[in-house]
Amino acid sequence: MAIVQVENISKRYALGEQIVNALQDVTLSIEPGVFLAIAGPSGSGKSTLLNIIGCIDTPSEGRVLIEGRDVSGQTPDQLADLRARTIGFIFQTFNLLPVLSAAENVEYPLLNLPELSRAERRERVAHYLAMVGLAKYASHRPNQLSGGQRQRVAIARALATHSRVVLADEPTANLDKETGKSILRLMKEINHKAGTTFIFSTHDKRVMNMADRLVRVEDGRVIALGMKADGRWVF
Ligand code: ADP
Ligand code: ADP
Repeated sequence: MAIVQVENISKRYALGEQIVNALQDVTLSIEPGVFLAIAGPSGSGKSTLLNIIGCIDTPSEGRVLIEGRDVSGQTPDQLADLRARTIGFIFQTFNLLPVLSAAENVEYPLLNLPELSRAERRERVAHYLAMVGLAKYASHRPNQLSGGQRQRVAIARALATHSRVVLADEPTANLDKETGKSILRLMKEINHKAGTTFIFSTHDKRVMNMADRLVRVEDGRVIALGMKADGRWVF
């Protein structure tokens, strides 16, 4: 079963008198465990698509199924629970809470999981900070960390809730080339080892080429689907 199913979704924004068609009739079936790039120029609809898949925005038409469940049929509580347990987010601007330490940032979404004891939360925080190579930086605040380290904290935060799908909106856009590459490598390593599905957007060809599945968008439409075979894209 697809982990994310997007069926004929469109998204329109009213901008004064004008209507912006951010997405037009997009259909996608995303298999569990893939490392998928949504690639396209700025304004092509990548963020809108990720926000709809992540249930933080709703389509004007069409439907989204996460693990087979139609999102539109969920109550607000069920949706909140879905976001808290199934989906993790990574942003281009990291979105860490500045007054909290790295460990506290990773712990923050775990406070939504009442079944975890304080000791279990601490254990998860330590585990995921170590996974992203930041065991020694647990007590650092975001402003004491480099951009790449901040994004590693955000990755640990997205994984700590045991998310099965991680959505990353231009995760390398605010990082230099080498740091961006190391962040993608870390995501890919976690994808391989833990089987977590990663869906990330990018307008950067080098970043796009690190994926093993590709969705190309332009003007709100999917214009191509690609799959890597022997290091080459097959469309
Ligand atoms: P991308 O992430 O590829 O840069 P977006 O999904 O952010 O693209 O935007 C797609 C289109 O929708 C763009 O034309 C953008 O200006 C427009 N858009 C996005 N969000 C809004 C909004 N809240 N109101 C109006 N237009 C929007
Ligand atoms: P990105 O770098 O991801 O493409 P954008 O700069 O396009 O981000 O958009 C940043 C935020 O502003 C998004 O939440 C998007 O929905 C919103 N936005 C984008 N275009 C417009 C617009 N024309 N009018 C209102 N909001 C917009």
